[in-house]
Order: sequence, then structure tokens, then C-alpha cells
Amino acid sequence: MSKLPENIGIETKCVQSGYRPENGEPREVPIIESTTFKYDTSADMGRLFDLEAEGYFYSRLQNPTCDYVAAKIAALEGGSAAMLTGSGQAANFYAVFNIAGCGDHIIASSSIYGGTFNLLGVTMKKMGLDVTFVSPDCSNEELEAAFRPNTKAVFGETIANPALTVFDIERFAKKAHEHGVPLIVDNTFATPVNCRPFEFGADIVTHSTTKYMDGHGSAVGGCVVDSGNFDWMAHADKFPGLTTPDDSYHGITYAEKFGQKGAYITKMTAQVMRDLGSVQSPYNAYLLNIGLESLHVRMKQHCANALAVAEYLKNSPDVEAVNYPSLPGDKYYARAQKYLPNGSCGVVSFVIRGGRDRAERFMKELKIFAIETHVADARSCCLHPASSTHRQLTDEELVNAGISSGMIRLSCGLEDARDLVADIDQAMKNSRG
Ligand SMILES: *Cc1c(COP(=O)(O)O)cnc(C)c1O
Repeated sequence: MSKLPENIGIETKCVQSGYRPENGEPREVPIIESTTFKYDTSADMGRLFDLEAEGYFYSRLQNPTCDYVAAKIAALEGGSAAMLTGSGQAANFYAVFNIAGCGDHIIASSSIYGGTFNLLGVTMKKMGLDVTFVSPDCSNEELEAAFRPNTKAVFGETIANPALTVFDIERFAKKAHEHGVPLIVDNTFATPVNCRPFEFGADIVTHSTTKYMDGHGSAVGGCVVDSGNFDWMAHADKFPGLTTPDDSYHGITYAEKFGQKGAYITKMTAQVMRDLGSVQSPYNAYLLNIGLESLHVRMKQHCANALAVAEYLKNSPDVEAVNYPSLPGDKYYARAQKYLPNGSCGVVSFVIRGGRDRAERFMKELKIFAIETHVADARSCCLHPASSTHRQLTDEELVNAGISSGMIRLSCGLEDARDLVADIDQAMKNSRG
């Protein structure tokens, strides 16, 4: 099938990028549910093992269905290459571990997903990687002071889950680049429909595709996308994994052999995925692709519903505070207008008057919003972070992550906005003590 024109919009990319069938081939992305691939000679296969030829030989490394869908996400983000992973956690782990390990240090925003906070602050710490958490609103001096000679990356979330802080991508990218390291941005909540971090200087983007990209609560998955813009060779001493020979891969030097646009994802595939194996299944990739085809349509409705809910909450006497970056008056409104002018996401958080007990009573009364450890699918749901996703955090860490004990996270689905507001309204009334 012919290549897509260069200057198509994000909507067309959602529907058409990635898989491009040839004459007589299936129109829908085929599910290649095969662990292995057959070759005529051992020499053919040897060339694949040497990374001398392109092709498939084992689905732990690469699978055509997964690659089609990764290519679509790369196109959506405006990146040079991408890889699917089995979950968003695996995506963030791989994105960092591909360039930083024992003896290294990274800087991360303190306002991030609880799972990523544990990954970086506990599990990777055990592996010998040090992390300094900084407020997403820290001064340039504080950010500067966090850098060390062994710092290898800076990490943040476009819109933090669940604090809904907006990350100042341009400022953090500039500082990272002054220190010769890339900025990694988890773009799960915004999706490339609402923000493309590479346009603001980010170098690597990650996703939990489990959320809006899949959009139906069907399949856990993740993705790492490389912008192709970071010059590893210019900072060769910091990134020996990319700029010196890989003993576990016949002495290949990734940055030389695959260049600036291919080195990072090729190394992640050939080394990190080969050894750690958090692959996405072809069937889940197929489901993800169906989700991506309507991502641009769904994001509009998620955002419109969330704005209606946020406006209701702002005017409710039962509410202490509302966080929604697209709501005029929100602390992050100005930053959201810069990075997310077309809308932010479907998630709204608020602090209910009456603390933890009232939060529980309110949630029990809801009839449309279901209590779930999830966000960002078609059905509206809600969660109490202090007693679920963030229960490992100390009170001080909770405050740093922007969470209080009466905070409720609402994920507005694709229902009628009036029904969502009415559901919240009745639960407010019926939970007053
Ligand atoms: C959910 C989430 C993750 C983790 O993704 P999983 O697919 O659940 O492993 C990472 N980052 C953000 C921002 C998330 O919302």
C-alpha cells in the first residue's frame, strides 16, 4: 500500500498509520500469533541474529503485529522508533534501564504515578540506581542542584496521575540538555492527541497503553518511543551502553551501527527485551490498535465530560479543592494552555469536605462511576488514592505527591456529561453526614 503523505493530521494517523497492507493482504492489522518464524537456511537466520538483516525469528524480540502498532504510536508522537512492552511499568523501567543502571543517578519529578515512584525510588534503588525527586514546580536553582556527574536522565509525567500537575517539559528539557542527558516523559494521560512532548524538547516518551490508547479497559500494555533527537555520541562517556561495543551482541556499537534515530530502540530490543522479556502479546497489540483508531474521537469526549464535572465540583459547597488543568483558575491552567491547548484528559481529582470517611460514603453512593483501580477507559470510574494506589507512601510523601486523605480521583468516561454530573450530585447529597 502506498505510503501516507507527510503532512497528515493526528486524526488520520490514529486511523491509518502503522500497518499498510500490500495488494490482496488483510485490511485489518493481522494477529501474527506465532512465537517463531521459519527460514530456509541457517545462514539466513544467522544474519538476523547478527542484526545484519531485518526480519523476525522469535516473538520475545520482535513480532510483526506488535511492530505495526508500535510504528503507529511512533507516528503519533512524531518519533523515529518505538517498542511495545507488556505494561506501562515495563515501559518506564526499560526507558530508564536502557541508559542508566548501577552506580548511576536520575532526577524525577516527585509528582508521578505511584507505581513509577516505587519503581524508581525503591526497586531501581535496590539495583544501585540513585534517584533524586524534585517538585515539578521547583526553581531552576533547585533543579540545577539536583544534577550530579553520574546523572543519566530526567523523568516526568506530562499530566501526573493522580495529582494532575502539568510538567513544564520545555524547562526540564533545557536543563537536561545543558547537562548532556535526555528528558524522558510519561505521556500516558495526555496522549499524543493532546500533547506531543517531542515538540517541546523531550527525547524519549513512554506510555501505559492500558489507559486511553486502549481505551476500553481490555489489555494491559506499554510503549517506549524515541524522538531520534538525542545525540548519544556527543555524550559518549555518559552512555557507554550505546556508544561502546556490546559484548553480549557480537561487539556491536549501537549508536554507530543504527545511528541517532535507531540506536536507543534497537538496543532496548536486542538487549533489554531479549534479557528481561516483558513483551506485549500480538493479540493485545491488535486490541490496542482498535483503540488507537478512535483515540482522537474519544479524547474529545473524555475532556468535555471532565470539564463539565470539574465545573460542577468547583461550584459545590461539599468540595474543598478541585484539580483539573483545563479548568480556568486551576493552579496549572496557564501551563495546560501552553502544553495542552486542545484539552488535557478525562481525569479530575477533588478533595471532599469531611476527609477520608466522607470520601468513602460518597463513593459508595455513586451509581455510574464504579470503584476501580483504573482510569482512562470508556466507563466512568473512581478511586481513593490514599487507601489504594498510594497506600505505601508516608504522609509526607503523599503531600509531596500532591495527595490528601480526602482526595478522590474521578475518571470521566464516554457517557453523557449530564448523567455524570447528576450522579455526582446525588452522591454528594446522600453522603452528607
Ligand atoms: C497506569 C500508569 C502507569 C503504569 O502502567 P501499567 O500499564 O499499569 O503498568 C505508568 N504511568 C502512568 C502515568 C500511568 O497512569
